[in-house]
Amino acid sequence: MKMQISFLVGTLALAAAAPASAAIKVLACEPEWAALVQELGGDKIDVVSATNALQDPHQVQAKPSLIARARNAELLACTGAGLEVGWLPILLQQSGNPAIQPGKPGHFMAGDYVQKLDVPTRVDRAEGDVHPEGNPHIQTDPRNIARVAVALSQRLAQIDGANQAYYKQRGDDFNKRWSDAMVRWQTQAAPLRGTAIVVQHKAWSYLENWLGMQDVEALEPKPGVEPTASHLQEVLVKLKDRPAQMVVYAAYQDPRASQWLSERAHIETVQLPFTVGGTPAAKDLFGLFDDTIARLLKGAGK
Ligand SMILES: [Zn+2]
Repeated sequence: MKMQISFLVGTLALAAAAPASAAIKVLACEPEWAALVQELGGDKIDVVSATNALQDPHQVQAKPSLIARARNAELLACTGAGLEVGWLPILLQQSGNPAIQPGKPGHFMAGDYVQKLDVPTRVDRAEGDVHPEGNPHIQTDPRNIARVAVALSQRLAQIDGANQAYYKQRGDDFNKRWSDAMVRWQTQAAPLRGTAIVVQHKAWSYLENWLGMQDVEALEPKPGVEPTASHLQEVLVKLKDRPAQMVVYAAYQDPRASQWLSERAHIETVQLPFTVGGTPAAKDLFGLFDDTIARLLKGAGK
């Protein structure tokens, strides 16, 4: 008994002496995963995002500051599904950090926990398609966020076993608030069911699947290939037979192609935040979906 008490006192003394930097260092590839880690990890984690909402997550430079952050990260939280294939392998290699390499607990890919859409029957990156493993933009469906949250919460508990109970409690709390919010969003978005849209980039497949919307055309001839004049003209012609109510683009994208189509097809352009920070209202994951639905309803005139 005496030994147990002295052990306990020793542990408490250690805990008290531990500096604030004892928080688990997390590097997220995209803002949505940084926001989710923050929700689930609270003050036990210290998270930074490699990209912000106004950057194209397919194309990021492995800058020295990013490499430095990857060097001492204890957890890497990314989308996977091929989204970061242009830069993450270089970052991982340059980091020299064994803890975050594939197969290690410190390597978390959100895409591993959801069912992929738009999976091509034939992989052909040579044509410039940046979605060779299927659509990586899983964060546009809050049901995916819920699935990822369960796995991510467990991963935090695995990496930081001393705070297991804390992560469990925060995970349960998030799950409750998220489930309630999803019911609200689905009710609000009900008028969008059946809405046909044009997308600039194939970024919204999961959102459409969730809300019962459909993209009839994409302005990029292939995901990641800039719209060409001839392709835009084709889209304009096709819309005569198969009209759409709005053209949707992400906050990080140049809106000119969408605006070109909007003027000629006489449909609304709708800018969506795409991730946390994409618009002023999308300041966290809840705001991301509040604002996405508000903007879609406005675009559809509902
Ligand atoms: Zn994409």
